[in-house]
Amino acid sequence: MKRSLALGLLCVVALSSLTILIAQDWRSGIPWEEPKIVTPGEKPGDPPSDAIVLFSGTNMDAWNEAKWDVADGAMTVKPGSGGIHTKQKFGSVQLHIEFATPAEVDPNQVCQGRGNSGVFFGPYEVQILDSYENKTYFDGQCASIYKQRPPLVNACRKPGEWQTYDIVFNRPELKIEDGKVVEVIRPGYLTVFQNGVLVQNHHEIEGTTFWHQGPVYEPHEPMLPIQLQDHGNLTKFRNIWVREIPDDTKAKPAPSREPYFQ
Ligand code: MG
Repeated sequence: MKRSLALGLLCVVALSSLTILIAQDWRSGIPWEEPKIVTPGEKPGDPPSDAIVLFSGTNMDAWNEAKWDVADGAMTVKPGSGGIHTKQKFGSVQLHIEFATPAEVDPNQVCQGRGNSGVFFGPYEVQILDSYENKTYFDGQCASIYKQRPPLVNACRKPGEWQTYDIVFNRPELKIEDGKVVEVIRPGYLTVFQNGVLVQNHHEIEGTTFWHQGPVYEPHEPMLPIQLQDHGNLTKFRNIWVREIPDDTKAKPAPSREPYFQ
């Protein structure tokens, strides 16, 4: 009995080895371009080698209407001076930004009045708010797509603590005729990590994120500045960089030959 079991095991091992020997490496036959080399930042959050740095702590040269205060490596909203816009226009991007809502909490400022700012990709806002023990409508709290989608979870740190957003924005493609959107060829999408936590998962943008109306796509250029909002609160920002994403990342070249084994 023992002998036949050993023989059986030997056969299984021999067959498995034979299968490994005759299996071949399947190839797609698609002539992909070799991915270019990007050197990552030294530590998490540092800009990689192909990033466009929008703020590194010393000046606001990358921004228009830059009247905010710069000190101690951060820029702070100057209430009443207005939002700021990047000089460069962008389409689809990966954005890293760090922010801190005011450490001192005014008990009279609640709901939307606490640490309010926002990152705008054209007319589409990822909300910035002090949502640490501060209730508001859920699709207006921190990391919401404003008035479209609450964050999956509330990953806010305490007021005054530095927080990170890592955002992937895929621009929409709109067909515009006579100043009107006649077709949404491809909607926009937003994915957001807050402090390393996924809070928006490839959200399909439904349109503009204005406070006074529901979402609807309105005409705009394919490339637009990134904006930071002045909502009257002393929210701070630091370490802002962006990487442009080509629109054709989903395109798949035709195979130069049929899938094959080698
Ligand atoms: Mg806002």
